[in-house]
Amino acid sequence: MTANTAPVLLDLAPLDAAHFARIEDKVAALMRTRESVVAMQGEALLPLEACIRSAVRPGSTALNIITGPYGETFGGWLRSCGAEVVTVAAPFSGAAGAEQVAEALRAHPEIDFVSLVHAEAATGNTNPVAEIGAVVREHGALLMLDAVASVAAEPLLTDEWGVDLCVIGGQKAMAGPAGVSAVSVSARAWERIAANEQAPRGSYLSLLDWKERWIDGGRKVLPHAPAQLEMLALEQAVDRIDGAGLDTVILRHRAAAAATRAGARALGALSPYVTRDADAAPAATTLRAPDGVDAREIVVAALAADRTRTVPVQAAGGALAKEMIRVNHYGLAADRAVVLDSLSALGAALESLGIEADRTDEARDAAAVAWDAVTGS
Ligand SMILES: *Cc1c(COP(=O)(O)O)cnc(C)c1O
Repeated sequence: MTANTAPVLLDLAPLDAAHFARIEDKVAALMRTRESVVAMQGEALLPLEACIRSAVRPGSTALNIITGPYGETFGGWLRSCGAEVVTVAAPFSGAAGAEQVAEALRAHPEIDFVSLVHAEAATGNTNPVAEIGAVVREHGALLMLDAVASVAAEPLLTDEWGVDLCVIGGQKAMAGPAGVSAVSVSARAWERIAANEQAPRGSYLSLLDWKERWIDGGRKVLPHAPAQLEMLALEQAVDRIDGAGLDTVILRHRAAAAATRAGARALGALSPYVTRDADAAPAATTLRAPDGVDAREIVVAALAADRTRTVPVQAAGGALAKEMIRVNHYGLAADRAVVLDSLSALGAALESLGIEADRTDEARDAAAVAWDAVTGS
């Protein structure tokens, strides 16, 4: 931007309460919920922590289903609220199963809260929420779902699946802002939260503050100045999805995952980290580096080879950094050309590191066929 360009992000009319409420309603429709939706004025970790601190107290027993790094974060919050934590874990190369969850609930009938991540962008897997939700509902515990990496990338049926606390963020498949997020709260969850003396009040983490100061008053007066730019961006993200059609956006993500997996297999040296197609998240595909090769070297070489400078390839975080490559084909990157270019970059990287002969063409062809099979074009 040059110095004499008129600023477009400044000097806007204030975002009023009616508009703020309208944005919440649009988000609720996207999440397929009729329960209350609170637009939270921070990144999605804010409502995730708020849900746990609001619904969990000393004496609670929580079932924490871990299929990636976010589940591990939840375990820490649950313990810090004084809950007993029962953990069910699935390998990052797979998904949690409803039977596994049912078994844990039978073994610990006192479980009153269940935390689950829908899709994990960081590990590339997705969990069968419909089936797990049915088991949790039968048991009677509250179900919290982290749907940040699944919303707009795959179906998210909050009410139908019996999700009591569902958290979304705009920054993944919605191709929107990272600085605001939203949480739906069921009537059951509000009852539990209201009865929890330890639930945050008078705090940025408080869901009850939003209920009492915003929802109960008919959403007429905002409790404080909203994150205006981010809220407007969130609205535009939802509007753009509605314009394209949610089903179309979801199909693009499904095609991107199928194409990336097919292309990676054709490259030879990289294999999908998530074994079964059904467990693979539509938002991001993770790939396993060959034995003895550091995934970060492949990523550096791929980014150097990428002439488009746009491929969403990165090394995984933390302990997985050495063995896992992420292709973040979410949002606008859920695109045929972006996926094909990502495979070209990875193919060039394998060749330049002397790992594999050039199989870029085979990979691009396999990916194109897989993409078209999903979209029917
Ligand atoms: C991306 C993501 C979040 C948001 O966390 P950031 O690290 O701020 O991007 C939360 N949960 C899941 C499952 C995610 O994929």
